Amino acid sequence: MDELLAKLHQTNSLTKDEIVELLGSLTPEGRKELFRLADQTRQRHYGKAVFMRGLIEFSNMCKQDCLYCGLRRSNAGVDRYRLTEDEILECVEEGYELGYRSFVLQSGEDFRYTEELLTEIIRRIKARYPEVAITLSIGERSERFYRTLFEAGADRYLLRHETASRSLYESLHPGMSYDNRIDCLYTLKRIGYQVGAGFMVGLPGQTAEHLAEDLLFLHELQPEMIGIGPFIPHSATPLAKAEGGTVDHTLVMIALARLFVPGAMLPATTAMGTLDPVGREKALKAGANVVMPILSPLAVREKYALYENKICTGDEASHCRHCIEMRIVASGYRIEMGRGDHCGFRTDSCLA
Ligand code: SF4
Repeated sequence: MDELLAKLHQTNSLTKDEIVELLGSLTPEGRKELFRLADQTRQRHYGKAVFMRGLIEFSNMCKQDCLYCGLRRSNAGVDRYRLTEDEILECVEEGYELGYRSFVLQSGEDFRYTEELLTEIIRRIKARYPEVAITLSIGERSERFYRTLFEAGADRYLLRHETASRSLYESLHPGMSYDNRIDCLYTLKRIGYQVGAGFMVGLPGQTAEHLAEDLLFLHELQPEMIGIGPFIPHSATPLAKAEGGTVDHTLVMIALARLFVPGAMLPATTAMGTLDPVGREKALKAGANVVMPILSPLAVREKYALYENKICTGDEASHCRHCIEMRIVASGYRIEMGRGDHCGFRTDSCLA
């Protein structure tokens, strides 16, 4: 195990068999060493900075039916909403006043937000606040759509690959194509976006081999951002009775992702904070370096529930900002409110 960790630290790579062996042989001391190496690697690239992104969940409508997701179209119990163009702009304005310079616009796959409408929203944000970074997280669309929004000013695009195992992917995403998902990620890269991939930990049927495939896929794609969260079963989905992922297991995968893609922007996700009151702090210590407080209007926050019991749904944006800031500083890190580009895109975020 020690040799495998040393090899990973030096080369940022392992074979699939080696990953599986490492996952099967990690002792408590091995985990500590893994987290230490991951934190050291993150500090080499970004120092003690934790990058803040304001998250605006602008629509919980979705045409897809992912088995694990509370927003899936078959869930008739969801109180659906869409924010208007002006409401989205108001969220950005509030976030800007609070100091945010990086915004994530996220929704289900809601095609009511057309290329024209989203172009207009991005143009208005950039016209008013030219220095901010805009990340989109709105699912699978066409190359033309991605290109138009990039030209309008979108900087980044999050599209978790969810799992790099074709069979597991297909069993969880009825009607969706694994090949299209992967094609979208490479298309976004080609266009010039800073791209975010990522996966869930603890999915029903997921094995160490599947997780090894996730890490190898990340190593091949070299995304600028990597979102990794535990699978949390939602009671109104077909996976309601599944066991779900653990914080401990997810921390190991975050640390490994940091070592496989050392310069990645890696969020300490809200899902981690939902399973463990200090889950996000633990993620930072395992190599994560991004936090995404929610800026959506209070009236709709609880309605954006991919999983249940999500934290921070009842707090004002200013409260979230100060609460998370205290936690980050208490963990020994430093708040960074700038654009927070990946170190390959701008040098002011990067120390390496
Ligand atoms: S995971 Fe995303 S695409 Fe799938 S149902 Fe949920 S919101 Fe829609």
